[in-house]
Amino acid sequence: MKYIFITGGVVSSLGKGITAGALGALLEACGHKVTCMKLDPYINVDPGTMSPSEHGEVYVTEDGFETDLDLGHYERFLSVSLKGATNYITSGQVYGEVIRKERRGDYLGKTVQVIPHITDHIQACIESVGQQHDITLVEVGGTVGDIESLPFIESIRQLRIKHGYHHVMFMHLTYLPYVRTAGEMKTKPTQHSVKELRSIGIQPDVLICRAETEISKGQKEKIGLFTNVANGHVISIPDVDSIYMLPTVLLEQGVHLLVSKQFQLASQEPSLDQWQSLVQKQKQAQQVLKIAIIGKYTKSKDAYKSLHEALMHAGMHLSQRLEVMYLDSETVSLERLEALGPDAILVPGGFGERGSEGKLEVIRWARTKSVPFLGICFGMQLAVIEFARDVLNLHHANSTELDSKTPDPIVCLIDELKSLASDEQMMGGNMRLGAVTDILVPGSHSQTIYATNQISERHRHRYEVNPLYLDKLDQAGLKVSAKSEKTGFIDMVELHDHPWFIGCQFHPEFNSKPLTPHPLFLSYLKAACQYHQSKGGTSRAA
Ligand code: GLN
Repeated sequence: MKYIFITGGVVSSLGKGITAGALGALLEACGHKVTCMKLDPYINVDPGTMSPSEHGEVYVTEDGFETDLDLGHYERFLSVSLKGATNYITSGQVYGEVIRKERRGDYLGKTVQVIPHITDHIQACIESVGQQHDITLVEVGGTVGDIESLPFIESIRQLRIKHGYHHVMFMHLTYLPYVRTAGEMKTKPTQHSVKELRSIGIQPDVLICRAETEISKGQKEKIGLFTNVANGHVISIPDVDSIYMLPTVLLEQGVHLLVSKQFQLASQEPSLDQWQSLVQKQKQAQQVLKIAIIGKYTKSKDAYKSLHEALMHAGMHLSQRLEVMYLDSETVSLERLEALGPDAILVPGGFGERGSEGKLEVIRWARTKSVPFLGICFGMQLAVIEFARDVLNLHHANSTELDSKTPDPIVCLIDELKSLASDEQMMGGNMRLGAVTDILVPGSHSQTIYATNQISERHRHRYEVNPLYLDKLDQAGLKVSAKSEKTGFIDMVELHDHPWFIGCQFHPEFNSKPLTPHPLFLSYLKAACQYHQSKGGTSRAA
């Protein structure tokens, strides 16, 4: 059992999750069995109830847990898929579990305290994951100095004492601001951050310094001297064009060698050829494709993180540069859309009424103007509603989520279809969550794209397309192309008299990795390319 704990200092949003993932990819390339986990200090049990505008996307794991978007970064860098049940821990979960035990009388009359009861529980969670892997990378959420993260920091301090230097490594990620008036990068905040960390008992073994540019050898030596970090253990991560360059940035500074030395592990010589050629392909991209995402969480950069990455993965493989335009569904107008001239439209997942009419309008535009369209989850539900209204003439067709009294509930609650759903995994207040197996309809466009008959994709929704309307939809041209193997729920639809129009009830973006892009996104971008060329597309990368 070997653990690398990654803490953060100075400021948040330094990319601890991305750094953990990139280090994971490098250590996998060295032949180790690696996993990542995250410890999040907030009191929520999970981010499922938090607004994506505030907290970023909710990432869904295969085993049906709603987790932090950093798990998405880990999965995209690692070859394995992670378990939300064990690889994601929040203070809310820890306190909840300890309080349950206390109520059961498990503590035999003792006073239940942060130390040892909360910290013991945290350690047990970490150790149970660590037992199954060569190296477990553990990211501690928040910034050192926060009150909330103290029990986690105390737990990892104790783990080092328990397992020793050769089993536990501390990495601290900090920031070096560039002060323009002085014309230099400043090391002082980093010195203070390490001082803060030391005051709670942790001396970092490795310092990873984020900065706009690379830091020099001299600066590394100065930082090492002031923070008590050994020569060669201060690593520089400058801003990069693509996050997928990071495994190489770490390799070039020998971070894997520091790990194998401290852990006394034999490692193979890592090859990052695949990562490097991926970044190369991206650099060669000639053409710019404009993809318009119509959503209501467009103000937060992180709200559609996995979707953004999935598009980028497909773009890199096709050597297409993408301009992803996030348009607010509450204010978007068709005039504006036409002026922007997107090569494809995407309506992502979402909840609630706000902005839904704007999305319906854009879907109609994409359908009637033959613009490639992908509707994901809520996006698929709205595509079915739009079709029912405009083609079936069911003018008040709706989802019961948006209008509980609609005369045509073309999308309705799983509960209302419950008799069908007995076997399938139901969690989080009847939310259909996690991986579900679907059977693709032979001969459908979707089956051709996936080139298989059976798929497994991740879900996160409560509402379903109502099967009572299937025949009518089918006769009018909206075809079902995938159904759940166990429940028969409608999981994909497509139009045949349109160049590319697909809706999926699941989130394919959670299954896309940079080295293995998702077939749906690849096919969608190919269609966008064709559409671009049919318009006489001339936009070239600068
Ligand atoms: N609001 C819809 C539902 O609950 C869609 C959810 C989503 O897009 N993730 O079914």
